[in-house]
Amino acid sequence: MEIVPGLFQLKTPMMGPALPYVMPYALRGADGVSLFDAGFGTPPAVEAMTSELAGLGYEPKDIRRLFISHAHPDHIGMAGWVKEQSPDCQVIMLEREWQWIQDRWLDNAAWTALSDGWLVRHGLPPEEVEAAQAAGALSPNSPAVKPGDAPASRPGDEGKPRNEGRPNGGRMPFTYVEPDVKLQDGDVVEFDGWRLQAVWTPGHTPGHMCMYETNHRLMFTGDHVLPYISPNVSLHADQEGTSPLRDFRDSLQKVAAFDVAAALPAHEFTIADLRERCEILLHHHDDRLEEVRAAIGEEPSSARSISQRVKWNTGPFDDFNIFMKRSAVGETLAHLRLLEDEGRVSSTEPDGRVLWQRAG
Ligand SMILES: [Zn+2]
Repeated sequence: MEIVPGLFQLKTPMMGPALPYVMPYALRGADGVSLFDAGFGTPPAVEAMTSELAGLGYEPKDIRRLFISHAHPDHIGMAGWVKEQSPDCQVIMLEREWQWIQDRWLDNAAWTALSDGWLVRHGLPPEEVEAAQAAGALSPNSPAVKPGDAPASRPGDEGKPRNEGRPNGGRMPFTYVEPDVKLQDGDVVEFDGWRLQAVWTPGHTPGHMCMYETNHRLMFTGDHVLPYISPNVSLHADQEGTSPLRDFRDSLQKVAAFDVAAALPAHEFTIADLRERCEILLHHHDDRLEEVRAAIGEEPSSARSISQRVKWNTGPFDDFNIFMKRSAVGETLAHLRLLEDEGRVSSTEPDGRVLWQRAG
């Protein structure tokens, strides 16, 4: 679908039923095509990309730039394949996201060990974490898997208990590519009549990037703002001391302040009124903050107990697999952290378990 002359919304398939596709965007240029996001690196996604490009008169070798919104596999997963097909293509993302990839994703064994202890600290029974570990459900792997090789098991994209699910049991082929260009917030990339400004929007991930196309007043929103579902915002083991939900709310206000004709998200469909959608997402999290605070009850509670008491769109917490539980606990913690910053809850850590109580 052509959004404005020379800018096309493409589709590449996801790996599960929850969200059927990713929407990369193709920008025509003088000497080839540039993409904002690409999709998974799976054979069906690569095939879809190849035929989408062919429909525009391009081959994969014509890809000149690949802008990446964030490091989740449905956005960055195809980057390795793109680099193979078009070695001179510039992979472009925020430096902050590349830093997070190195901190979080390149040593999965270390991260998984950290995360296992963290799950227990936040109330999961150690036996349950150990059983999941023994079953290989949390086993680490090397992220440097070439596309087309056997899919590797990886802890992956944290599940998304309320929206994206964990297709394929967390197995996906994948490779990380060091970006050729590492942007800072506000940097502008100009080529062939396009003028793209990087907009740092932490929350969904620490270095998530939206891009504002200033000539046409279009905002590429990645997963930061989606038209129907609300993006997963979680506090994870490597993010203690940060407040992803505060970041996310600030980032919603940040993009809402731009003069935007239309917003182009990575899933679902085009957003006509970005400002209104940001307002709805802010209210959604206000309601969720109240719900999480109410779920604490009279006794000090762990994040796991609170997660058992709040409502999830995908069913009761106790029915979740370990990935979804980790994601759900992370999401509950993102809300608890913001409530704590606001003085509305407080935490203690007796016997190595973090417990929350209402305050204020
Ligand atoms: Zn996504």
